[in-house]
Amino acid sequence: MEFSAERPLVLVGAGLASALIAMRLSHDGKGPRIVILESALRPFGEHTWSFHDADVTSADLNWLKPLTAHAWAGQSVRFQRLKRHLKSGYASLTSASVASAIADCANVEMRTGAPVSSIAPDHVVLADGTLLKASCVIDCRGYQANPALVLGYQKFVGLEAELEAPHGLKDPVIMDASVDQRDGYRFVYLLPFSPTRLLIEDTRYSDGEALDLQALAADIARYAEAQGWTIRTVVREESGVLPIALAHDFERFWAEKPSDIPQAGMRAGLFHATTGYSLPEAVRVANLVADNWPIGSAALAQKIRDHARMRHRQQRFYRLLNRMLFKAAEPDKRHLVLQRFYKLPQELIERFYAGRTTPSDIVRILVGKPPVPIHRALACLREAPLLKANKS
Ligand SMILES: Cc1cc2nc3c(=O)[nH]c(=O)nc-3n(C[C@H](O)[C@H](O)[C@H](O)COP(=O)(O)OP(=O)(O)OC[C@H]3O[C@@H](n4cnc5c(N)ncnc54)[C@H](O)[C@@H]3O)c2cc1C
Repeated sequence: MEFSAERPLVLVGAGLASALIAMRLSHDGKGPRIVILESALRPFGEHTWSFHDADVTSADLNWLKPLTAHAWAGQSVRFQRLKRHLKSGYASLTSASVASAIADCANVEMRTGAPVSSIAPDHVVLADGTLLKASCVIDCRGYQANPALVLGYQKFVGLEAELEAPHGLKDPVIMDASVDQRDGYRFVYLLPFSPTRLLIEDTRYSDGEALDLQALAADIARYAEAQGWTIRTVVREESGVLPIALAHDFERFWAEKPSDIPQAGMRAGLFHATTGYSLPEAVRVANLVADNWPIGSAALAQKIRDHARMRHRQQRFYRLLNRMLFKAAEPDKRHLVLQRFYKLPQELIERFYAGRTTPSDIVRILVGKPPVPIHRALACLREAPLLKANKS
């Protein structure tokens, strides 16, 4: 199929993946015509999307800047027997900052309330029957359950709270796991947006995906009280249930996907297996699209699939760790695995979050007495039994 430059690039879904592709192609003011189609009435949902500076390159930080709402020079973690400050930069995009930056891109047209009912390599059809022709179509419609993935879950509720008095935090607290452990590994995540404004998120690494919004909101209120913080108002709420991959059959995952329509973001299974975060992977795909632009749907689909295959292989170790965390460790002892991990060198921790763990990092992470029963650890070594059990 010929590439038709007069037609727009169509991104289906106004989420993180499409925002990053649109910004990466447009930040120099020379982007192609792009149409983003979103089924909801508001684009980009209700999210805070955070990342570690080391997840991306300095060139990436540059084009991510217009999308970024907050940035900090450091971060810390707290466990029952460990408190540590890391000089690793951290930043957050918010739905509002992303919507505003994309609205500033003159080449990008946003259509909301526009659910897409079918996607082809050179056009999409909206639910109201409208047909839109495209030079290239990328399916960015977000996560879709797939039997080729065996999962645990990272579940959370976050309240953005305005406090009566300053909270005293300078940097984010990525994990305050000194809290009582329940429903698996539990920690509180804190992002200080101003001296009195704070995102307080209660997170659980759990076997099941059920999320009790009210119970977690009540736990957040109790946590705030224990810190001596009085919440004046809750200005915003967000919640999520993110997939944590214990086993992933790549070929089976992709078998049902069309080979000539590119997929991006969670739709493509491109997330960090241990954190469920997709921003660093979405940056990689945005770069891949830009580096190959102009390109038609079928050729791009092949490139993204090849890239996803490589990332699947590179994430094998994270899936092993997840099996140790979810299948070998007792739920109330999962925090010990993380406490031990956070004693390792800062650069190793940064590479871990970035999905760039090296073979020598793997040795450092695994060496010594594991905080899980050895016979249960050995039973988790292979992915295949879990995949087989998921099939039957
Ligand atoms: C509350 C929350 C916080 C998160 N925080 C982080 C974080 O800090 N860092 C990080 O890296 N990851 C984070 N994640 C995980 C992950 O990165 C996000 O889920 C991310 O938004 C996934 O991006 P995506 O573009 O693949 O999908 P989404 O952002 O979910 O976007 C998909 C979009 O497609 C739209 N859509 C679906 N079907 C159609 C259709 N038929 N027609 C038109 N539009 C359609 C949806 O309405 C949606 O807007 C978070 C997830 C959640 C839920």
